Amino acid sequence: MAARTFLGTLRLAILVAVLLFVALGAWLDRARSRDWNDTLRVTVYPLSATTDTGVRAYTAALQAGDFADVESFFVDAASSHGVTLEQPVRIRVSHVARELPPALPDRPGSLTIALWSLRLRYFAARTAWNDPLPAPDIQVFALYSPLGPGSVAMPDSVGLSKGLIALTHLYGNAAAAGSNQVVLVHEVLHTLGATDKYDFATGQPLAPAGLGEPDRQPLYPQVFGEIMAGRIATSARDAVIADSLEQMLVGPATALEIGWPP
Ligand SMILES: [Zn+2]
Repeated sequence: MAARTFLGTLRLAILVAVLLFVALGAWLDRARSRDWNDTLRVTVYPLSATTDTGVRAYTAALQAGDFADVESFFVDAASSHGVTLEQPVRIRVSHVARELPPALPDRPGSLTIALWSLRLRYFAARTAWNDPLPAPDIQVFALYSPLGPGSVAMPDSVGLSKGLIALTHLYGNAAAAGSNQVVLVHEVLHTLGATDKYDFATGQPLAPAGLGEPDRQPLYPQVFGEIMAGRIATSARDAVIADSLEQMLVGPATALEIGWPP
């Protein structure tokens, strides 16, 4: 009896130690990812979400060079906010992931979301272990679907701020490369603590935080969009989807959230 109690206590102590270790690790990762002293290493794992041969071929052929605009977006945006780091983000593409990450629960509740996020973290950790290259700071699972007339509505992409993992739904077609990169940067910024700056009901960018140039006169139409708003506001009630990162900026509110100097 005494031995069992001792073992029970020991087991509990080990469990608490493991949990503390994981929590401390997550906190350190997050603090380190937002100090902007070193280049953030982002690995993109392209995965085909369909059996479509065109999408499969497109996904299999993706390389780091296909995401060069993401790297230059971070260079321009960071330097405009006073970050002196020469290369804030470096993208690497890994084809090591073979299966799709766990899908979001059909009926999301706080418990199902918590369990799903644990499963996603386990999936991400296993993927990193299977990769011969060093584990990245941020993992992006990019799920590609066919681009077609009826395929405008995509499932929501998710960026987990605890765990530095993003799940993005993109189009497996070169014509969508620009808008895909907008989605990818948006989700990477979520993992660094940035919040959405659009109205969830309408998709309309929030003013002023969701506008590329909140001081513009007249205010509308905006020429640039704010990356966490996702769209460019053409009026107080209308907005268009950005075709490329060249149309997007990081506004002061997002910059503050991800640790860039005010
Ligand atoms: Zn978002």
